[in-house]
Amino acid sequence: FWNQVLERLQSQLTRPAFETWIQTAKLKDLQDHCLVIEAANPFILNHLQKNYLKIIAEAVQEILGHPIEIYLTTGENGAILGEPDHIELNTVIESVDGTEHPKPSKLNPRYTFSRFVVGPTNRMAHAAALSVAESPGRDFNPLFLCGGVGLGKTHLMQAIAHYRLECYPTSNIFYVSTEQFTNDLIAAIRQDSLEKFREHYRTADVLLVDDIQFIEGKEYTQEEFFHTFNTLYEAGKQVVIASDRPPKYIPSLQDRLISRFSMGLIADIQVPDLETRIAILQKKVAYENMQLPRDVIEYLATNYTSNIRELEGALLRAITYISISALPMTVDNLAPVLNPPVDRLVTSPDILINLISDVFKVSVEDLKSNSRRREISLARQVGMYLMRQHTDLSLPRIGEEFGGKDHTTVMYSCDKINQLQQKDFHLRQTLSQLNDRIKQLTLTSS
Ligand code: ADP
Ligand code: MG
Repeated sequence: FWNQVLERLQSQLTRPAFETWIQTAKLKDLQDHCLVIEAANPFILNHLQKNYLKIIAEAVQEILGHPIEIYLTTGENGAILGEPDHIELNTVIESVDGTEHPKPSKLNPRYTFSRFVVGPTNRMAHAAALSVAESPGRDFNPLFLCGGVGLGKTHLMQAIAHYRLECYPTSNIFYVSTEQFTNDLIAAIRQDSLEKFREHYRTADVLLVDDIQFIEGKEYTQEEFFHTFNTLYEAGKQVVIASDRPPKYIPSLQDRLISRFSMGLIADIQVPDLETRIAILQKKVAYENMQLPRDVIEYLATNYTSNIRELEGALLRAITYISISALPMTVDNLAPVLNPPVDRLVTSPDILINLISDVFKVSVEDLKSNSRRREISLARQVGMYLMRQHTDLSLPRIGEEFGGKDHTTVMYSCDKINQLQQKDFHLRQTLSQLNDRIKQLTLTSS
């Protein structure tokens, strides 16, 4: 029976999709009314649940001739882990003529406070979000979260929504993207139901508006949002806004909105440090009931530094790849799926060390010494950073190149340079010059 199901699915899906997601699944149990499928690991389970459950169910039904309930499980503990993809918020307004609007927004069930890892670069944003969740409209109104892509703004906003809905299931918590707000507005104008639109948004107890930078250039949306904001604010309702930059850097944002947005707290989120990145990976892995060797986690955390979404993506690729290829989970085995995110010129450690010595005017002996003199230790850290980027050496081997430092020193050095160059223009310039020199050297030596 299971083979029939597989054959049917094979004919419907592309080969990679079939091999990756379906072929690895096993039939665990078949009863009159239920079928249990075992997925190779929780990631695959999650993916099956989200994307393939329907098509599997259809195939099964066609073969059995009647519908049947399907459960997904992973081998490890037999628990049924599938979680709903999204939770619908109660924001639908049914009107008499049957048109529904605005549309319900969706929350990602994983975006909760308990899954958010707090570190030095998001501590304030987290604390403010939690405080807003506990007592909306009191301390920070509006709360304006800002920070680069993939750093947790949406996660924190939705965590507020989850928190409120858990405590007060009937409260009106509206989470919308700016795009959604704009679309609702346009639809309302078209259907001549502007009043309903206004009423709807103005019943919010908490209004969370994501990616407000997209309001740029939309005069009418700005106008309408200004009034929505004022009504809610005056009624003591909480407004939370997220943006990839501070209000004053959003082009063509009306001054009155800039001043409204700046009335409460502007909390920014910066790129997480190494320890936080490691903690995020560990937490994610623990939630998925998996185990990963420490060096794989460190490898990911040192190579994906500026965007948590990409970090998580790399983790997912690693786990999927390993589970499909059945190789042991080692850094070497993962290399094919973890393409290094930086431009990479492969060069030799000696060339690099001489180059650093030359550019920083520090002797090779000093680079390999334990001296903590500032200029020496900076040169050494830059050396380790570049060696990480431009050679295939492992962290311990890089440590050896620099006179036997241990691998954590190398790791922290790379991270230090990474953080520093974001703030330090001069260092950024030096690094870019060094990269040019490496390029020349690599070209002439090959
Ligand atoms: P943004 O909205 O700032 O672009 P997201 O909130 O969508 O970023 O976050 C991107 C991904 O990173 C999400 O999967 C989110 O769960 C995760 N993430 C971000 N920050 C953290 C954190 N501090 N702890 C755990 N996961 C995080
Ligand atoms: Mg976002």
